[in-house]
Amino acid sequence: MADSLPDPNGIDPATAAPAMVPADGESGRPRLAFDLDVDVCVIGAGLAGLTAAREIARGGMSVAVLEGRSVGWSASGHTLGSVMPGYALAPADLIERVGFDQARALWALAQEGADYVRATATSDAAAALTEGALEVSTVDAGDRIIGRLQTLSEDFATDVEGWQTERVRATLKSERYFHAIHYPKAFQIDGRRYVHRLAALAEEAGARIFEDTPVVGIDPAGIRKRVVTPSARLRCGHVVMAGNVHLGEPGRRLASTLLPVWRYVAVTAPLGERLAETIAFPGAVTDSDGIDQFRVVEGDRLMWSGPETVWQGDPARHAKRIRRRIATVFPQLAPVEIAEAWSGVFGQTVHAMPQIGEVQPGVWVLGGFGRQGLATTATGGLLVARGIVHGDRNWRQFAPFELVWAGGTAGRIAGQAADAWSRGQAATLGALARLRERARNREQAREATRTARIAAARTRAADR
Ligand SMILES: Cc1cc2nc3c(=O)[nH]c(=O)nc-3n(C[C@H](O)[C@H](O)[C@H](O)COP(=O)(O)OP(=O)(O)OC[C@H]3O[C@@H](n4cnc5c(N)ncnc54)[C@H](O)[C@@H]3O)c2cc1C
Repeated sequence: MADSLPDPNGIDPATAAPAMVPADGESGRPRLAFDLDVDVCVIGAGLAGLTAAREIARGGMSVAVLEGRSVGWSASGHTLGSVMPGYALAPADLIERVGFDQARALWALAQEGADYVRATATSDAAAALTEGALEVSTVDAGDRIIGRLQTLSEDFATDVEGWQTERVRATLKSERYFHAIHYPKAFQIDGRRYVHRLAALAEEAGARIFEDTPVVGIDPAGIRKRVVTPSARLRCGHVVMAGNVHLGEPGRRLASTLLPVWRYVAVTAPLGERLAETIAFPGAVTDSDGIDQFRVVEGDRLMWSGPETVWQGDPARHAKRIRRRIATVFPQLAPVEIAEAWSGVFGQTVHAMPQIGEVQPGVWVLGGFGRQGLATTATGGLLVARGIVHGDRNWRQFAPFELVWAGGTAGRIAGQAADAWSRGQAATLGALARLRERARNREQAREATRTARIAAARTRAADR
């Protein structure tokens, strides 16, 4: 890839690639080496750009996707594959922000995205889906869970089920977890397989994908936009900026609205029988603090994700943190051996919602999908495609979530501090909840002994 892709987020493109990425051009897709005229140019072959490209091509327009590295090079090729309903923004916060009716409409759009991912993933005969997800509480907060269950099921028509602590602990053998929300319709896919499937389907629909083709400039003025790459120029009626945090100079303002967040993932070596004895749930498990996320993969390995940083770190170092975390939550599994570890970077917006829409005639943004981007990139891709092909304006549902500067370096420092604080606070609340539970258990045991003693005394008195 050309070194000329400057990055407003200070991400060094030479080293930012997560582990396990294919070498540039490995897929055999060409670099754009000749001038081209198309209806739509999509910048970025991640999940967002590929969904938009596929749907625009299906709508009969000519589309070129320009990708600086290779398909799925960044976040989209490194997900945990977990497809959850809704957005990273909590339902109650969404209602507070846009009102009940619009929150409901937005939620339905996210569900449409999840349905799209399911249909697309299962069109691949070899795709293996696992069903269901659990959101477990690290504090004994039954009331809060009931409130959330009501909002999700009654207001947002989402299939959810409340699990009592006993059921949670029978399924996940950890004293750290209390109640849970079960999402039976959430599912998991092989994320890496999915992004390549999407690229193949986009090409089948007629989109042309060029790899190793960084966009270094855009002239958005006029009806025909001009897009510049190191080796060719492209003219188009619409440009879709789906480059996420790596967008660089052509989308400097857009990229500066995203806080880059690196998430670290590790997969253990096979753990044998003890894993099934500890975790008897096939789907993804997330804790209510948003810290740990894990699931069983390949029968007896554990895939675990948790640490996040706003500067790029070493996956091997964070794998050690994950190892310690597994031992804290499930001491019976320790010590675990980590077989592989990787990281990926996603763009987090200030309002925790994606940025989707037309910012000036013919210039579209499609980004900020955060850590919950599998379904919402599909939502965004569909909305932008319908906007371009049919003039549909449903993307305006996202208009309240405009481009807000993420604060540059100061924002990153603040972001890391807030993250550390909330994780610390979550750990404290979890410890308090466990202490309260132990005190309650001791009190119940004392009460049971007292009741038994009184009953025995009464029996003795009656016998006399
Ligand atoms: C470790 C990890 C695990 C995750 N797990 C999950 C999960 O389980 N479930 C879930 O819902 N979400 C998950 N996410 C979030 C999800 O991966 C992202 O929200 C989503 O992939 C973002 O897709 P995107 O297309 O917007 O961006 P990206 O995947 O970042 O794609 C952008 C592409 O644009 C290209 N590009 C950028 N600038 C230019 C330019 N100037 N010229 C040409 N090309 C350019 C880049 O090379 C890149 O390939 C996870 C994220 C990470 C990091």
